[in-house]
Amino acid sequence: MTAVQPKPATVRETFDSLDPATDEVLATYPVHTREDVEAAVAQARDAALWWDSLGFAGRAERLRRWKGVLTRRLAQLCQVVRDETGKPIADAQLESVLGIEHIAWAGRNARKVLGKQRRPAGLLMSNQAATVEYQPLGVVGVIGPWNYPVFTPLGSITYALAAGNAVVFKPSEYTPGVGRWLVDAFNEVVPEKPVLQLITGFGETGAALVGAGVDKIAFTGSTATGKKIMAAAAETLTPVVIEAGGKDPVLVDEDADVEAAADATVWGAFSNSGQTCVGVERVYVHERVHDEFVAKVVAKSRELRAGSDAEASYGPVTMPSQIGVIRRHIADAIARGGRAVLGGTDAVGDRYVQPTVLVEVPEDADAVREETFGPTVTIAKVADMDEAVAKANDTSYGLGSTVFSKRRGMELARRLRTGMTAINAPLSFAGIASLPFGGVGDSGFGRIHGQEGLREFARSKAIARQRFTPPIALTSFPRNEKTDALVAKLVTVLHGKR
Ligand code: NAD
Repeated sequence: MTAVQPKPATVRETFDSLDPATDEVLATYPVHTREDVEAAVAQARDAALWWDSLGFAGRAERLRRWKGVLTRRLAQLCQVVRDETGKPIADAQLESVLGIEHIAWAGRNARKVLGKQRRPAGLLMSNQAATVEYQPLGVVGVIGPWNYPVFTPLGSITYALAAGNAVVFKPSEYTPGVGRWLVDAFNEVVPEKPVLQLITGFGETGAALVGAGVDKIAFTGSTATGKKIMAAAAETLTPVVIEAGGKDPVLVDEDADVEAAADATVWGAFSNSGQTCVGVERVYVHERVHDEFVAKVVAKSRELRAGSDAEASYGPVTMPSQIGVIRRHIADAIARGGRAVLGGTDAVGDRYVQPTVLVEVPEDADAVREETFGPTVTIAKVADMDEAVAKANDTSYGLGSTVFSKRRGMELARRLRTGMTAINAPLSFAGIASLPFGGVGDSGFGRIHGQEGLREFARSKAIARQRFTPPIALTSFPRNEKTDALVAKLVTVLHGKR
């Protein structure tokens, strides 16, 4: 008789999270398999029912407590962000504070936005009481990037939770520690059920989440991955929100505050090492203020330095493969007639890229057309703001944009084909919790933040309740010619005016 052999213990695949400044291993995380992801989604389904049953007030109270934990341990959170992304602590704090603002807003406003609302039933149906309410979808899968590992995923997670959904969250493989920190903090205040779960791994783990039968996928990351996710989600008709890349422009009008515009451009282009989805990548400047603007941008940019010491303005390029893209964009711009008035290909090191300002770059160069995601910016001279708008809009992307103009700010903002525009300040829309955030074209679709963000994670439920039997029955076979004649008369009175 042969003895039953014990099954070999499954060797779990793992991956390391690294400090991008030193390559030091910070921690090791499991690569979650398809089975792991499906188990998490099954648990989330049960948790979602419980979370929904708490109602708006119960959820708001728990979100408030989560926000409190994040706020009180802000320094700890910022350190985890700095370790994994390399960004300065002050920048980590800024994104975390904005994330906390979103938790506060979503918790406070969910009932008002998603609760029962009466709707007018109209004259023909005046015997009905019409209401709409927004019910949770169930389980939402959130897939996040690494560049703003607190602010960006919280933009989806917070709104999905406030709307009554359970969430399974896969952070970027570059920032699993930040993801774990956020989820652990939530589970401290909501220990009853796994309402917010973490899964870790690479693209395959993300793909498993897309195919795991969730009720919606909220994806933030590159356009290329967004397309793959949408194609995979189509198999099961799983709805998606896609928050993808950008090539955000700044427009500087002849009457602009040139000093403020230069300051905003420098911050928008170089902070976080240019790794900002709504970062400034292109600038179109009225010819009357162009030279002054370029001089100011160069002078301000000269003061900046990439590094990992406490005085550095911004940190390393988090994802090593991006270094090649940045170098290629600068080299291509210069080969095609552009000029580096600061930096250039020599500014691109192994980990750090020093500020690079490019002028006279042809509009069809990679540096103008593709997302660079590095500390570089192109500045182009335009004859008027119509040319600026046309050039700004001549892109497949459409995420954010900024306008500097004293008189024409609103007009120019409306004409820009982007989801958000800031006037006379850099990226201000991202800090206003009540404003929807999302793009058009290759930048994706769907909205996070604000009322639109809450509704993105809910389904409308329309209910018509008959209050009394109508004097004329429209939806009944015994309906007679007299009724039809009356309806014809009524519609003529209501809608027949020339
Ligand atoms: P990425 O597309 O490489 O990865 C994003 C996430 O998708 C990661 O968690 C990754 O593991 C996962 N993933 C990869 N392949 C997958 C697949 N086939 N199925 C499911 N998941 C998969 O992007 P990134 O490099 O982490 O982030 C940078 C990009 O994100 C930039 O393009 C930036 O503009 C964009 N971004 C956009 C916003 C926005 O709000 N629009 C915000 C931040 C960043």
